[in-house]
Amino acid sequence: MSVQGNMFIGGRAVHGTNGRIQGFDPKINEKLEPSFGLATCEDADEACVLAAGAFQLFRKTSASQRADLLRLIADNIMALGDTLIERGMKETGLPAARLEGERARTANQLRLFADVIQDGSWQDVRIDTALPDRQPLPRPFLGVRKIPLGPVVVFGSSNFPLAFSVAGGDTASALAAGCPVIVKGHSAHPGVSELIGRCIVDALAELNFHPGTFSLVFGSGNEIGQHLVSHPEIKAVGFTGSQSGGTALMSLAQQREEPIPVYAEMSSINPVVFMPASLAAQTASLAEQFYASLMMGAGQFCTNPGLVIALKSDALTHFKQHMSKLMEGNCAGSMLTPSIFSSYCENKSALINSPEVNLITQGHSEGHNACEPAFVEVEASDFIKDRALHREVFGSFSMLVVCNSEQEALDVLGSLEGQLTGTIHYSENDDQTFAQQLIDTMELKVGRILFNGFPTGVEVSTAMVHGGPYPSTSNSQTTSVGSMAIERFVRPVCYQNVPNTLLPPEIKPNNPLSIPRHIDGEPEKR
Ligand code: NAP
Repeated sequence: MSVQGNMFIGGRAVHGTNGRIQGFDPKINEKLEPSFGLATCEDADEACVLAAGAFQLFRKTSASQRADLLRLIADNIMALGDTLIERGMKETGLPAARLEGERARTANQLRLFADVIQDGSWQDVRIDTALPDRQPLPRPFLGVRKIPLGPVVVFGSSNFPLAFSVAGGDTASALAAGCPVIVKGHSAHPGVSELIGRCIVDALAELNFHPGTFSLVFGSGNEIGQHLVSHPEIKAVGFTGSQSGGTALMSLAQQREEPIPVYAEMSSINPVVFMPASLAAQTASLAEQFYASLMMGAGQFCTNPGLVIALKSDALTHFKQHMSKLMEGNCAGSMLTPSIFSSYCENKSALINSPEVNLITQGHSEGHNACEPAFVEVEASDFIKDRALHREVFGSFSMLVVCNSEQEALDVLGSLEGQLTGTIHYSENDDQTFAQQLIDTMELKVGRILFNGFPTGVEVSTAMVHGGPYPSTSNSQTTSVGSMAIERFVRPVCYQNVPNTLLPPEIKPNNPLSIPRHIDGEPEKR
């Protein structure tokens, strides 16, 4: 399979006519062939109308049929082999090993959702049997299951060209739920997008699904992205990227005649707390692990450890010295796009030049769009006062907040906006009460609390939460990674006194799908 410069509208390969874009190799600062035609608003409308038609069939498909589809998409992606990895390396500057890992994660994510929908517990079926003799009033039969919302628009991010893009977590969870998907392709990796889009289109055709179940369109977010979100046939949005993009879509979705949910994963600085005994016992090792997490992928992760909180101590002084030794003279590698690189330089300079901020150490920039990493420090009282110091710098940048007391560390945590993760480094010699207070404060701020690790690296599993209070996401009640992500694209419907013959199979008394259910509050024996 080769890159042709096409998008897909309901299974049809289309070369858009509304201008064009090209992929870009950030390592050598050169455009890549071929060029991609962009969608018109009419193209976007066609994709939405096709998706609405497809929904009427797709929502009636069985979990097994959709599971087969997800598994075939995963197989098709793996079968692309080196073609995908080589194009990905050119379009993103990311190394082969990173892209191979992300490809495996993407395929596993699709397979996880296949398993989830076949298992059936995601439907959370509950049945309250009829109590005709109940006094003073009889109780009717009530059964509840989840149904898909309808066509979903997905916006992928630049930093995960596979796992958060065309066949990423949003697409996988929406298709699993029974929602057709229209992806607004990211202009930072159009070739990878086309290759993956083809895998989905081919899988749909092979398994005889309606071609409108998936479309991929290229175009500017402001024009085509917003047009898609405004279309009356669209019922939900999945987004990963900047806070400005996510909040613009949230407000657009609320202004529609029929407001729809936007699940946006946006911005996070992911506080890491080093407790005193833990830091003293393993200063050099913690510096090495933190440095590795910070430098990975040039820091272009939503889970980058952008904030460190620690109490003033000799160990902390040694930690800073270790960090200086590790970082000096080192480059974090080329960034994904020239615009991400220039934003990094601008945001980093603004913080380094703030009067309260002291530069601990800075690396080196080598080559095109190369990230010069930096580690800076600030006093806790200044950090709490100045909200400008809380902003995310997307790249290998982190800020140490130096605290004079445990209470000050808790106040720093308490001053933060919502975050995806919070980390605590703890040893048995650390104070238990302080550790518990850290957890209690963190719980209100983050979606995932982790101990003695670093936040980069997000397991795709049943218990993962990749979410958190605003502005890390637009909705803290769910996750964009892991099997719970399916809940974003379904809603409960209750069936009251519906005759057995007309009940959906999930709720029929004989449980023909043999799925886990609760009857009158008790798990059903199967
Ligand atoms: P982005 O600029 O927000 O773009 C993501 C997608 O949304 C793109 O397809 C983009 O289309 C579209 N979009 C952006 N603003 C929009 C708007 N107002 N209306 C409609 N669509 C819009 O994110 P990115 O390209 O992945 O990265 C750029 C910056 O986002 C980074 O420098 C970083 O600060 C931040 N970022 C954060 C995270 C995170 O998880 N925290 C992840 C990635 C990026 P266009 O390209 O056509 O605008």
